Amino acid sequence: MKTMSSYLKLTEKEKMHELSLVSSIIDLLSDHAETNGWKMVTRVTLRIGSMRQVIPDVMRFAFTVAAKGTPLEGAELEIVELPFAGKCRICDSTWEEVLFSCPECGSCDTEITHGMELDIDSVEVEDQDAPKDKHSPGCNGGR
Ligand SMILES: [Zn+2]
Repeated sequence: MKTMSSYLKLTEKEKMHELSLVSSIIDLLSDHAETNGWKMVTRVTLRIGSMRQVIPDVMRFAFTVAAKGTPLEGAELEIVELPFAGKCRICDSTWEEVLFSCPECGSCDTEITHGMELDIDSVEVEDQDAPKDKHSPGCNGGR
């Protein structure tokens, strides 16, 4: 098992709501699994900004359903929620409430610096050729 920690950016089109969102993530990671020879994905960590209004429980449920029959089936979905943060382009003030005009100078020329994230933070995978303990008393015994 190993952990990948490069952020995989999703396009705006992929940043939709829970089910379509998890479907996009599963499609993306299934492609990666095929390309990189991952046997299975065991854990996915997402960074989701609070402005995305994603409901973690719904996400996890949708993920479980959508992952069936893919290399991500049975993987654990971890969701890291990031709080909102804004910044003024005029006076450089920053704030953490949901405000769209600057509390210092009143300018509407502001940007959201955190809260819109929707990134795959890391994935844990098992490689195709991962060394196996052939003598483990697993549940696939039989013959
Ligand atoms: Zn300002």
